[in-house]
Amino acid sequence: AKFVYDFTEGNKDLKDLLGGKGANLAEMTNLGLPVPPGFTITTEACKVYLDSGTEPAALRAEVSEHLDALEQKMGKKLGQADDPLLVSVRSGAKFSMPGMMDTVLNIGLSDASVSGLAAQAGDERFAWDSYRRLIQMFGKTVLGVDGELFEEALEEAKQAKGVRVDVDLDAEDLKSLVAHFKDVVAKETGRDFPQDPREQMDLAVRAVFDSWNTDRAKLYRRQERIPGDLGTAVNVCSMVFGNLGPDSGTGVAFTRDPASGHQGVYGDYLQNAQGEDVVAGIRNTVPLADLEQIDKTSYDQLMQIMETLETHYKDLCDIEFTIERGKLWMLQTRVGKRTAGAAFRIATQLVDQGLIDEAEALQRVNGAQLAQLMFPRFDLGAKSETIGRGIAASPGAAVGKAVFDSYTAVKWSRSGEKVILIRRETNPDDLNGMIAAEGILTSRGGKTSHAAVVARGMGKTCVCGAEELEVDTKARRMTTQDGTVIEEGDVVSIDGSTGKVYSGEVPVVPSPVVEYFEGRMHAGAEDADELVKAVHRIMAYADRVRRLRVRANADNAEDAARARRFGAQGIGLCRTEHMFLGERREMVERLILADTDADKEAALEELLPLQKADFIELFESMDGLPVTVRLLDPPLHEFLPDITELSVRVALAEARKDANENDLRLLQAVHKLHESNPMLGLRGVRLGLVIPGLFAMQVRAIAEAAAERKNAKGDPRAEIMIPLVGTVQELEIVREEAEQVIAEVEKTHGVELKLTLGTMIELPRAALTAGQIAESADFFSFGTNDLTQTVWGFSRDDVEASFFTAYLEKGIFGVSPFETIDKDGVGSLVRNAAAAGRATRPDLKLGVCGEHGGDPESVHFFHEVGLDYVSCSPFRIPVARLEAGRAAA
Ligand code: ADP
Ligand code: MG
Ligand code: MG
Repeated sequence: AKFVYDFTEGNKDLKDLLGGKGANLAEMTNLGLPVPPGFTITTEACKVYLDSGTEPAALRAEVSEHLDALEQKMGKKLGQADDPLLVSVRSGAKFSMPGMMDTVLNIGLSDASVSGLAAQAGDERFAWDSYRRLIQMFGKTVLGVDGELFEEALEEAKQAKGVRVDVDLDAEDLKSLVAHFKDVVAKETGRDFPQDPREQMDLAVRAVFDSWNTDRAKLYRRQERIPGDLGTAVNVCSMVFGNLGPDSGTGVAFTRDPASGHQGVYGDYLQNAQGEDVVAGIRNTVPLADLEQIDKTSYDQLMQIMETLETHYKDLCDIEFTIERGKLWMLQTRVGKRTAGAAFRIATQLVDQGLIDEAEALQRVNGAQLAQLMFPRFDLGAKSETIGRGIAASPGAAVGKAVFDSYTAVKWSRSGEKVILIRRETNPDDLNGMIAAEGILTSRGGKTSHAAVVARGMGKTCVCGAEELEVDTKARRMTTQDGTVIEEGDVVSIDGSTGKVYSGEVPVVPSPVVEYFEGRMHAGAEDADELVKAVHRIMAYADRVRRLRVRANADNAEDAARARRFGAQGIGLCRTEHMFLGERREMVERLILADTDADKEAALEELLPLQKADFIELFESMDGLPVTVRLLDPPLHEFLPDITELSVRVALAEARKDANENDLRLLQAVHKLHESNPMLGLRGVRLGLVIPGLFAMQVRAIAEAAAERKNAKGDPRAEIMIPLVGTVQELEIVREEAEQVIAEVEKTHGVELKLTLGTMIELPRAALTAGQIAESADFFSFGTNDLTQTVWGFSRDDVEASFFTAYLEKGIFGVSPFETIDKDGVGSLVRNAAAAGRATRPDLKLGVCGEHGGDPESVHFFHEVGLDYVSCSPFRIPVARLEAGRAAA
């Protein structure tokens, strides 16, 4: 194998082999852009090193060969005493990763060559500045010396001289600083700073290889699901110097604004500086536009290059460049990160510029970005005081009074207060408080901390790991870095999309994108928001190409109407149990308590007209579109009083000797229905089979509602869905009964209803016997919530708060299987069941109605396995439409 590629040999498509940085340096070189010459050591070399513990045998010779060629080209040798060639050694994996080694600049400098560099440049100070930087970077990243020790020494030198910034240190100061740095290295590592230039280079290369396996890099890979065996490439690049005086400098730039997407001049420039100085904030940078005044030639050339890059990459690029005595050098480019709003705007702008087509535009945005744009946000025009910043763990804008414990959160929210729960970190005991709060703020923990995971699961705003905020839960207060104290009851605002924390109430404005979906803002309007126009166009592209239809999970006419505005093509899941809440709960209670058939029938009689009225409304709001109604699913005890509360009430009453007859019967029933594992107990189709008349009543309500809508010239399209079926026999019995009821209703109303009857596939056995079940089903709807619970043996209500944080931290999965479908396990059952069902009945309609129906990655999976539709909550519908389009484009 070939382990080393000259920059002239690679290209941008070789990211696997050359890493992102190396591939793009090669691409720029081949575009004829001014890139300092150099070469890339491949990820393959790294893999051999990681597997065997030593560099591949051929590597040394290959590196020598490429170094020779580089020295030829530059007319000087690495570290040559009178005129040294210097290089940078830069890590560059396929994906950039925290925890990977930092770049080391100025490799090749030594006691011998530092004066040669000074003489060549005619600048003593520059040479010693470069040398001290080398020892500092090398000492820290290659030799593992604590970086603080160098920082302290630098700080001392500045203080001794009475200056504030490093450019005010002169050659003599820097010379003694180098001596000091060398002492630090000798003391900390037990050996002298290496003087041999090739040894410096080889050690730096090995350090980059080793950095692949730092704990931080490993953890990051596991969480982001980046394979652990990719390895990193290493770039060796000849140095150019931005620290050669005022006609030199270094900068970063974007080809367009990563926040708005607008074309223009965006970036920062710093004169007389090297490397990271520009982003490190040690001196004040100037806006890129000022470069035009400072060095017009370089500025014009840079603008030209930026245009070349945009046209070539057909996307926003970010850039690192350096100017050495009036000559511009390109040091890095890549397709740049951008905000969610900019992603949509840039995608449509590029279509308008003719650079990409609509299908490509769809790949430039994603559902997570769209979801982000749909959250209400803080009005940033309003006056606000930022008091800290943490990790944006779960998006949204939340305002409330600060509370520091779960108990207070619950108490205050019960009395109608909005609260923000502030903790150092959360644990399962905080769950009630988290539910009660508008948002959650923690000072510890990352994206997989308990607070973050649970908040995301609940769709609740969360900022975590705001480390500069000191949370004192005992004293019920939080102190900001500048000493401001937030006491319990003070209002704070947290932004889960940016991680910012504000004191006081920041006004919240609705998202313009939601206003648009709601029909309150029109994309065609003259003054329409630019973002709304872009979203409108992208949604149109997605709708044009997608094959999956998108339905809503909705139980009432109001949700159905919103879902329709958001583009729903029907209802995929109407949960009838939601129709039995409130005062109707007592009717269900009566049904459960009924001793005689007559009582039972009476209870059902009472429920029938109410159910029917609900369905009429629902069919009306979804006229012409399918509405899947699921028959009663949850365990009956959910309709009965809590067993403990009731027991106490009865016991107290008995003590007072005035126990009430009804309570006693109720308690008996509660005891009888009590189950240790209710989710695996008497629920779903099992209820229909053991409580005579229950499903028949529901089917009658559906059929009569449909008949009435028909007679009113409506177009109802009801689909009856049986939950929790495990075997075809269950379905056959329910179907027979249902068909009888439907025929009766058709006859009395004189209409043909064309109701279909299908089942949920949410138990492993149902999935495994899908071929048989399809004999009796017109459609399948995969209930992937329950299927995930039963396939993994996870109790959804418990595991997310108890051990999922640990699982995520250990990298067992990168995301909860309740959030994104587990393709290998649950997904493979879905795939096989879909195929088996269709084998029995080719026209079998297939859908999914779990939370996964609105999850971007899962939508792609459902597209791929050939489902007909996904169903999700109304707010996720645009996301599902977009992702279905992206999957098909
Ligand atoms: P990162 O991945 O952190 O961006 P880089 O390898 O790009 O690391 O290098 C860090 C800094 O050093 C950047 O500002 C880059 O422009 C600068 N740099 C890297 N190589 C050279 C070089 N050969 N000459 C001058 N500056 C360089
Ligand atoms: Mg860089
Ligand atoms: Mg279910």
